[in-house]
Amino acid sequence: MKIVLQNLTKKFPNRDGGEDVVAVNDFTFEIPDGKLIGLLGPSGCGKSTTLNLISGLETASSGKIYFGDNDVTDLPPENRGVGLVFQSYALYPHMTVLQNIMFPLENFKGKDKLSKEEMVKRATEAAKLVQIEPFLNRKPREMSGGQQQRVAIARALVKMPRVLLLDEPLSNLDARLRLQTREEIRRIQRETNITTVFVTHDQEEAMSISDMIVVMKLGIVQQIGKPQDVYDYPVNLFVAKFLGTPPINVFEGKVRNNQIFIGDEAVLDIEGVEDKDVFVGIRPEGFILDENGPFTCKLNAVEVMGRDTSVVTTHEKALVDSIRSIISAENKVDTTKETVRFTLKPHKTFIFDHETEESIPYKVRK
Ligand code: ADP
Ligand code: MG
Repeated sequence: MKIVLQNLTKKFPNRDGGEDVVAVNDFTFEIPDGKLIGLLGPSGCGKSTTLNLISGLETASSGKIYFGDNDVTDLPPENRGVGLVFQSYALYPHMTVLQNIMFPLENFKGKDKLSKEEMVKRATEAAKLVQIEPFLNRKPREMSGGQQQRVAIARALVKMPRVLLLDEPLSNLDARLRLQTREEIRRIQRETNITTVFVTHDQEEAMSISDMIVVMKLGIVQQIGKPQDVYDYPVNLFVAKFLGTPPINVFEGKVRNNQIFIGDEAVLDIEGVEDKDVFVGIRPEGFILDENGPFTCKLNAVEVMGRDTSVVTTHEKALVDSIRSIISAENKVDTTKETVRFTLKPHKTFIFDHETEESIPYKVRK
């Protein structure tokens, strides 16, 4: 089922007086059928509100929502056929796992009413899908956090929803379980082909499991695309900074005479950009160790991480306290020196307008 959001806007009255809070601002997007979309952004950017608008828990201030060709904008949540999973699993503690999963089916009325047998069958199938079938007779407290979240996912799936909505479903899990459970969610989504919206503030999580990501800031969509494309072609400084670990290194810079300058060093020869002040963003993997390179940084530390080496440096024009560059461990850094020099990879080096912070396309000059 494809989902269409059309100029979707949600305003909340400001409790402290003053202007309304625009939690979601003119969001237009067509979520393709059967895909997993990662909705990503810092806390308070409007992710949950967007999800709640899709589920019907919140009503839109303006704009439209379609499921397929049906306008569902004014449809109550129970008629939308959505499955919801939240950060807190909210399982019934006195019920067994099986009873928890079956619970949504008990409410089916009239011609949709299911026999007990049918309910058990469907709940068992859902439990199988999330691999908790052996625990059907346990109580939630007898399971780990990851297993409990799987019960919550099974409970959302048992109604065979047209759309699955997950709001930070992994936030309560420890790091290892988070990794494992996110792969599970990906697998379940592939197997069921349910159009899924996955909300997270964790860029790595969103990048790793989504077909497409939507990056939001203050209620406004910044960029939509395949994770790798958004990483490779960020539209602005915010998106560039939000994606990537370690994060992109940002410097004060300028373009003069077809060269990018950081301080008084011309670090890259380019064309197609007029002289202006810019922010220069360099991904950690964009540095090449080169004793004749044009870019000099002050050497701080070298951290060996097995496959890679992280060279930690400083620069007076850097907007971050320490610059992190990742180079192959085969390259040896002379740690007796006070400085280290780099050549920059152009496709890992971005420039942004100093005022608008929008990405400025450039060509490399040979
Ligand atoms: P996120 O899920 O990205 O952290 P939310 O969608 O929860 O963000 O919130 C977006 C903005 O809307 C925030 O500024 C938040 O304070 C505000 N907001 C959310 N729900 C309400 C509400 N019921 N009443 C007033 N403001 C709200
Ligand atoms: Mg939220």
